Amino acid sequence: MKSFQQLTTFAIAIIFLTTSQLSLLAQKEDLYESKKHLLEYLSNINTINRFGLISDAIWNYAELGMQESNSAALLIKTLEEEGFAIEKNVAGMPTCFVATWGSGKPVIGILGEYDALPMISQKPLTPFQSPVVDGAPGHGCGHNMMGTAGVAAMIALKKTMETYKIPGTIKFFGSPAEETIISRPYMVRAGVFNDVDAVIDNHASSDFSTSYGVNGTALISVIFTFKGRTGHAAGSPWNGRSALDGVELMNVATNYLREHLHYTHRLHYIITEGGEAPNVVPDRASVWYYIRNTDERVEAMYERVLDCAKGAAIATGTTLDTVIVLTATHQRHSNKILAEAIQANIELIGMPEWTEKENNFAKALQKELGERETGYPTEPQKLSAPPAIQVGGASSDVGDVTLIAPTATINFPGIVPGAVSHHWSYVTSGFGSAAWKGLNVGAKAISASALDLLTKPELLQQVKTEFVEYMKERPFKSFLPQGAQPPLEMNKELMEKYRDSMMRRMQVVE
Ligand SMILES: [Zn+2]
Repeated sequence: MKSFQQLTTFAIAIIFLTTSQLSLLAQKEDLYESKKHLLEYLSNINTINRFGLISDAIWNYAELGMQESNSAALLIKTLEEEGFAIEKNVAGMPTCFVATWGSGKPVIGILGEYDALPMISQKPLTPFQSPVVDGAPGHGCGHNMMGTAGVAAMIALKKTMETYKIPGTIKFFGSPAEETIISRPYMVRAGVFNDVDAVIDNHASSDFSTSYGVNGTALISVIFTFKGRTGHAAGSPWNGRSALDGVELMNVATNYLREHLHYTHRLHYIITEGGEAPNVVPDRASVWYYIRNTDERVEAMYERVLDCAKGAAIATGTTLDTVIVLTATHQRHSNKILAEAIQANIELIGMPEWTEKENNFAKALQKELGERETGYPTEPQKLSAPPAIQVGGASSDVGDVTLIAPTATINFPGIVPGAVSHHWSYVTSGFGSAAWKGLNVGAKAISASALDLLTKPELLQQVKTEFVEYMKERPFKSFLPQGAQPPLEMNKELMEKYRDSMMRRMQVVE
């Protein structure tokens, strides 16, 4: 049933539709009511529990990038039940999907991730290291909360748009394998974001915040494979040419290279193939590199690392057999006007109220980690200017999206302050009531900001104008080489090794 005030607002809107200025006022009035409607739906305890349970289920699946079949299926099912149209297998990736509702302009996009990290399995809400399954993956970056927050925001938006007859289209971009920075560059290449006017991204955090400007590093993820000649390592080593020597010498060369790279760089690798036994000269060896720097420097840095590989091949009498770029992305360039609109919603919504039990757990975990025992924060962060000097850091494949459409990221709370990302302490705190409340305020900020973009054409226009001006200086060119393909087999064996034992030991809230 519509309230009397809602009906009155509707009537006022009809009466004044003929004069544009007054209809804008009516629209603002409608915005107030519709945002209230949106936030009320998300504040309902059944809504909080519904999405909390979805987040915990994905936490339990803890599926590695490109193998997130259960996680993607759960989010798809949730959206399908609410009437969203689903496009599956997007950009050639089986766990990539787009959910759409509505019609016409504007088109507002919401991003969501759901992949886990290897080796960091951990029991929930346990303030000391204790894996559920030894060596298995775990959600060490809160992506279980993030995909869920995005889906909750979509459903809230759809209900409000229907109720208030708000025109436009909303799209959820189910984005696999963020931890290996895979999906978004390929989604961008496939044109998935071409008709989108603005995009709202989200990340789990201990803070409630947003930011603008350039952030993090661009990344080229590449596997170098050397080919040698096998031989008896003791009987006739002079007949062999060790591919592992090629890898090792390359690594020595890149470690010398570090001194002469700009301080914005990051460079790290793992050896993925290095032979099977010491007494057989390995004729095949591979090393996987993450080459990171600013957008301006990353391609030149890649060329220098490639030279290290070529030099190592010559020195060891091996050949550089293949150089396979798995993915490549830009730095993040977040839109300032969109971030300011998001900040207003963050301040409107505020931090969740944490219980004593939740704060006691947070303090116990902080004590174990040697951090200050503060519990959860009570106030959102202020919007701060980006750092004047770029000093490197992590990468996100959201980077490419930020250069295709105006984008900003909402960091929402729920993770214990001091918990370390990509570490068991993050896994343990991304589950249960505090995580549920955190992702809930995240969903509120995402959907309220999307609603602002849908209902305030002048705001969306400002966001887009800033983007168009910014892009004049840096026309987008993908760092993906021609012919690059998403590595669909990535993590397959690892996931198959652990999936059954993880499913047998699903954790539930007590
Ligand atoms: Zn992450």
